[in-house]
Formats: sequence, C-alpha cells, structure tokens
Amino acid sequence: MQAAIRHDGTGLRVDPLTGMLDGAAFTASPNCDDRPSGCVPELIVVHGISLPPGEFGGPWIERLFTNSLEPDAHPYFAMIGELRVSAHALIRRDGGVVQFVPFGRRAWHAGASSWKGRERCNDFSIGIELEGADDVSYEDAQYATLARLVAELLEAYPSLRPDAIVGHSDIAPGRKTDPGMAFEWPRLRALVRLNLAGSAGGSGGP
Ligand SMILES: [Zn+2]
Repeated sequence: MQAAIRHDGTGLRVDPLTGMLDGAAFTASPNCDDRPSGCVPELIVVHGISLPPGEFGGPWIERLFTNSLEPDAHPYFAMIGELRVSAHALIRRDGGVVQFVPFGRRAWHAGASSWKGRERCNDFSIGIELEGADDVSYEDAQYATLARLVAELLEAYPSLRPDAIVGHSDIAPGRKTDPGMAFEWPRLRALVRLNLAGSAGGSGGP
C-alpha cells in the first residue's frame, strides 16, 4: 500500500509485540538475528548512507541490505558488495520509510562500537539510516519522520530513554563519521520533544 504512506511520519505506529512499523514499507533483510538473551533496545543509533556516496534516490541501499547489490553497477559497489549489513529502518530523502528488520531483532548496523563502556552496540540498539551524506543538509521531511519514529519507539519500548540517541560516529569514533556535520541534533531533539508532548495530550486533533 505505497499510496498510504505518509511522508511526515504522522501515520507511523510501532507495534512492540511484533517489532513492526505500521505505516512503513517492509523489505526483509536477511542480515539480522536474535538479540542476545536479556538484551532489549536501550539505544537509538542515527546513521547516514548514500549509494553511490553522495547520490540519492537509487535502489542501491535496499540492494545492499538484501545482499543483491550488483558489483558491476558502480566501482564502489565492488568494494562493498560482500558486506552483510542492515538497519532497522531507512528514511528516504522524501521522508518515506522502509523497515528492514523488526525492532525486537538485532540488525547489523553498528559494527565494532562502544557506548558508555558497552561494546557490540547492535546487541542493544535500534539503527535508523537517513539517506544522506555527512556534508549535505538533511531534508525537512527526514527530520519530521525521524522525530516521529523516535517518539514512537520511546513509547513502544520503555527501555529506551530520550537521552540515549546517538550518531554512528559517537559509538565508532575514528572509524565512522555519519550522520555527519550536516545533521542538526538540536533540531531532532526539539522535534522529538514536540512529538512526545503531542502524544501525551492524547490522540485526536486536526
Ligand atoms: Zn552508519
């Protein structure tokens, strides 16, 4: 039901039982597994990705996350075609969302990483990719959708806390730079607060 997808995030709902994001497209990635016993989502990791780097709008991110990237399509793809990676969700430049891994499962997005002394952040995190590049402004629609998604996740999983939202570069410094200098953290935090305040006031409204 592609036509039903709202690109400002207002139609998104997280089902904590299934880990599914209602209102988003779903493309299953094989690059995931169960979280280790006792691990629950405690951290949200924001990423930036574009394939080829700096180009937006192609099918290549989905191809990468489903192990179907064509190595001949671009020189860069030959370098990364063997990667087995995923994220829970991707937010496109227009604010549309594709989910690849149910939130209760472990997506393979962080790699070697550490947060507050805990390694292997994939075990206890939710990874959200923004289609973008470190030095290119992210789109208004992406902030709107990301803030709505983060607010939904915070409500669905009480183990997540509003201050436990970081960039990939924060948990893999020196190795990763995304989502980059272009990402406006104060803007995201303000929008998340607005979303949480709005939902606390009950449903309804125009
Ligand atoms: Zn990343």
